[in-house]
Amino acid sequence: MTHPVVIIGAGPGAADLMTVRGARRLGEADVVLFDALTDPALRRHAPAARWVDVGKRGFSAQPGRHGAPACDISGQARINALLVKLAQQGLRVVRLKGGDPSVFGRLEEELQALAEAGLQAEVVPGVTAALAAAAATQRPLTRRGSGRSVSLTTAMTRSGALHASRGADTEVFYMAGRQLAALARRLREAGWPDDTPASVVSRAGWPDQLASDHRVATLAQASVLHAGRPTVVIVGVGAAALPRAPRRGASKATVAAAPEPVPSP
Ligand code: SAH
Repeated sequence: MTHPVVIIGAGPGAADLMTVRGARRLGEADVVLFDALTDPALRRHAPAARWVDVGKRGFSAQPGRHGAPACDISGQARINALLVKLAQQGLRVVRLKGGDPSVFGRLEEELQALAEAGLQAEVVPGVTAALAAAAATQRPLTRRGSGRSVSLTTAMTRSGALHASRGADTEVFYMAGRQLAALARRLREAGWPDDTPASVVSRAGWPDQLASDHRVATLAQASVLHAGRPTVVIVGVGAAALPRAPRRGASKATVAAAPEPVPSP
């Protein structure tokens, strides 16, 4: 007898941002195929399961994360094959993915491989990086009246070329962290005015999350601060600062004297 393979969105990082359903399904796993971006603390949900690092960074000859042995598998095709093989052995297989599986997660390829093998799947959604970034900056991606559409865009095309667009009031760019200067150029080419607000958020949802405010023209300045960290860039309405609320307990005079909320820099 085979069990449905459960593909779980682990959220943007910190273990407590996974859904309750995800945690429950994880607890039932015999084997967990996980990505590099997920939090080691997630292992507590399935301490007896076998944890296999299939994250792209786990493909090197170095030992896997969390002390797991190095994986000799590589590439999406091998992940698909492993999912199928383990499920066919009658194991309860969980595929744990960063963020939400349906956002730049190659979910379609894994679902297809399972379907071709006659295996069932269940998908458990997760918090995608864009939403964790909006929480980090406390700036909603939609705004009544001005922000009516949000686009999740990968800055990286299949060929490795950088791409930007201007198709929504707020655009959230994934996979652009290493190329902010180039992204800024592409954004201007796509028609975003130089002074459009742009927030850069890295490791959103983690205790060490960082967020910085820029304009499209000055986006490259964020490169050093966020270097080497998973990063999203929010452009447009969702990057604009909200009017600041008066501090609690502040006297009326203090509130009146509070500076206007000028978006930085
Ligand atoms: N499925 C994932 C995205 C995978 S693509 C999701 O839904 O979030 C990997 C890209 O996601 C990274 O290059 C980065 O742009 C973004 N990302 C992932 N985790 C992040 C985090 N905690 N903070 C900021 N960006 C993150």
